[in-house]
Amino acid sequence: MNQLVRPPEVKIAASACPHDCPSTCALEVEVLDGRSIGRVRGAEDNLYTAGVICAKVARYAERIHHPDRLLHPLIRKGPKGSGQFAPISWDDALDLVAEKFLAAEAKHGSETVWPYYYAGTMGLIMRDGINRLRHVKKYSGFHSTICVNPAWTGFIAGTGKLAGPDPREMAKSDCVVIWGTNPVNTQVNVMTHAVRARKERGAKIVAVDIYMNGTMEAADLAVLVRPGTDGALACAVMHCLFRDGFADREYLERYTDAPRELEEHVRTRSPEWASRITGCPVETIEAFAKLVAERKRTYFRLGYGFGRSRNGTANMHAASCIAAVRGSWALEGGGAFHNNGAIYHWNKSMTEGHDAIDPSIRALDQSRIGPILCGEPDALINGVPVTALFIQNTNPVSVAPEQDKVKRGFAREDLFTCVHEQFMTETAQLADVVLPATMFMEHDDFYQGGGHQYIQLGPKLIDPPGECRNNHEVHCALAKRLGATHPGFEMTPRELIDWTLQNSGWGTLAALEANKWIDCQPDFDTAHYTKGFAWPDGKFRFKPDWKTVPFRSPWLAGPVNDMPVLPDHWEVIEEATPEHPFRLATSPARNFLNSTFNETPTSLAREHRPTVMIHPQDAAKLGIADGAKVVLGNTRGEVRLHAKIFDGVRRGVLIAESIWPNSAYEDGRGINTLTGADAIAPYGGAAFHDNRVWVRRL
Ligand code: SF4
Repeated sequence: MNQLVRPPEVKIAASACPHDCPSTCALEVEVLDGRSIGRVRGAEDNLYTAGVICAKVARYAERIHHPDRLLHPLIRKGPKGSGQFAPISWDDALDLVAEKFLAAEAKHGSETVWPYYYAGTMGLIMRDGINRLRHVKKYSGFHSTICVNPAWTGFIAGTGKLAGPDPREMAKSDCVVIWGTNPVNTQVNVMTHAVRARKERGAKIVAVDIYMNGTMEAADLAVLVRPGTDGALACAVMHCLFRDGFADREYLERYTDAPRELEEHVRTRSPEWASRITGCPVETIEAFAKLVAERKRTYFRLGYGFGRSRNGTANMHAASCIAAVRGSWALEGGGAFHNNGAIYHWNKSMTEGHDAIDPSIRALDQSRIGPILCGEPDALINGVPVTALFIQNTNPVSVAPEQDKVKRGFAREDLFTCVHEQFMTETAQLADVVLPATMFMEHDDFYQGGGHQYIQLGPKLIDPPGECRNNHEVHCALAKRLGATHPGFEMTPRELIDWTLQNSGWGTLAALEANKWIDCQPDFDTAHYTKGFAWPDGKFRFKPDWKTVPFRSPWLAGPVNDMPVLPDHWEVIEEATPEHPFRLATSPARNFLNSTFNETPTSLAREHRPTVMIHPQDAAKLGIADGAKVVLGNTRGEVRLHAKIFDGVRRGVLIAESIWPNSAYEDGRGINTLTGADAIAPYGGAAFHDNRVWVRRL
C-alpha cells in the first residue's frame, strides 16, 4: 500500500492563501527548514476549505523557490523598458525614491504622487498599509475599481448589505446555482460543498456561464449564455416562477419593495424573449426555472465574472432577485450569496491611517491608469499630472485595460516609477527602481474570507531569500525618509494585527494564533435576513436607487441615469456590429490567477500558449483551422494569438483565457490591448468580458 511518509523533521504549519480568490483557503504547509517549504495542502479541520485547495497553490514551492525571484534592489541603467538594471543597496534605493517623491511633490503638489496597489496579496497588513502612507502624505487616492465594484454594488442594490447565507449551507441545498464563476479552476471549495449536496441530498447543480468550462461540464444543467445577457436570463426565470405559480407571494409581500410591479414587468420577459438575447434555448431556460420552482431550497452562488460587463451591476442585481421571488432566502440552504465583506466590522484606522484622511484629496480610478498616465484631463479629474508612482502587489502593464495607453504612460520620461515586487513583471521592467518583495509565508499577516466567514492568520514560516523585504518594512522606511509620521509606522506587523483584532471586537493575536482562525458567521436570522433586509424598511429592492447604493465609492461613474429601473437586459454592452462581429471575453485560465503564477513552469506548460476559442461554424466561415494564427482587433488595438476551435461557445463569442504575460504574444501586445477602461455604472469597474472585436486569419 502506498503511504505518505514524511521525514520526522518536517513541521506542518498553518497558513492562509493570500491570493486574489474568494476562497482564502486554510493551508497546511510543510516547513522543511528555516528557508524552504515542501507540499502545501488544504486544512482538513477548516470547515470551508475541508482539505481541498487548487493545484497551483498545492505546488507553491515552485513559486516561492523560483530561480527568477527578485532578490536585490535594482536601479534602471538603460532606457525605460530596456531591461537594463544594476544592483543598488536598500538604503540608496529608498533614499532615491524618497528624493524623487519629495521633488515631484515640491513641483506639482502632493497629488502628483500615486501609490498604486492591489490584491497580489489579500493580507490586511501588507496590502492595505500603503494607504497609511498615502493618507499621511496626502498623495492621490486610489479608487479601487478593477475587480469587485460592479458585482458588489449589484448585490448590495437588492439586499442593502454585502453578506448572505453561510457558504457552507451549499451542502444543505437542494439546488446550487453557480453563476458567473468557475470554481473548478479557482475557488475550488464551492465545488466541494455543492458536490456534497448532490451526493448526500440528491441536489442538482446548475451552472450559468459564457463557455463550457470545467464547472459547466460538471453541472447537471449547464446554461450557456452570450456575455452580458445574464439579466435577460434572470428575468425569464422570474417570468416562469410568476407564470407557473411558484412565486412566493407571502414572502414577496412581506420582504420586498415592488413585487407587483416586478410581476407586471417580467410578464413580457418570456423564455422566448430571453432566448433571442442570450442565445440559450427556450427548453434550457424552462429547465432552469423548473429546478428553482421545484427546489425552493436553492442556493445562488453568484460570482464576479458576469459583473465584468458594462451592464454587470444590473445583471448581478437581476440574478439576486430570483431568490427573493421564490422566497428561497427563508430556508437553510437557500438564498443568494456573493461575498461576506460586511460581516467583519474592521477598524482599519491604524493599518490605513484613517485619522489622516483629507477628503479634499482626489482619488484616481485604478482601472483608468492608462488614460491617467497619458494625461487625459477627465481621468486626472482636471488635476495635476501623475509624475511619481509607487506600486505594490499588482502588475498593471499586463492586467489593466487599454494596454497600449498603459504602456505609453509608463514609458513617459517625466514619470518616476518604483515597483516593489516578487518577480521582474512587465510593470517592474518599466520601473526606475525595483525592490524585492517577500511572499506570504515570509511575513506575518492576516486575512478575511470573501467567499466564506473566517478570519485567518498567515504567520511568517520561513526567512525570505536574498534581500527581500515585506511591504510594511518598505512603508515604514519610506515614511521615515518622507517625514510621514503615524503610530502605525512604529508598530510591527504582529502589533498591527493584534491592534486591529482588538479594536474590531475579534479578540487578540494570541487567541487567533492558538485557534488558527475565527468563525465570524452571523446567526441564521441575520444571514438570511429573516427580520428584514438591510434597508430602513427591511425590504429587498427590486427597484434600487442606483445612485445611493451604500458602497465605498467616492463618486458615480458611467451612464448611471440610464440604468434599468427594474431587473432587465440593459443594452449598454459593446454589442457586435458589422465591423466588429464578435464579442470577446477574457476569462481566467485554470493555472494562472490574474498575472500571478504566469511565471511558474508548470502553469506555463499546462496552459501551453495564448489561444482564443471560436465556434467551429464561425471558424469555418472565416477559413480558420484549429491552431491557426489569428489576429483580433478593435478600435483599441490588435492582438495575435492562436485559434482553438471549440463548440462550447455560442456563435459570435470568443473566449481568450488569461492572463498570459504580454511577452507570450507574437508582438508583445497582451489581451488587455483590446479591453476598455471606460467605467461601469454606477461606481466604476472594468468590462473585461465585454469587448467587440473582429477576427482574421493571419
Ligand atoms: S482555490 Fe483560491 S484560495 Fe484556495 S488555494 Fe487556490 S487560489 Fe488560493
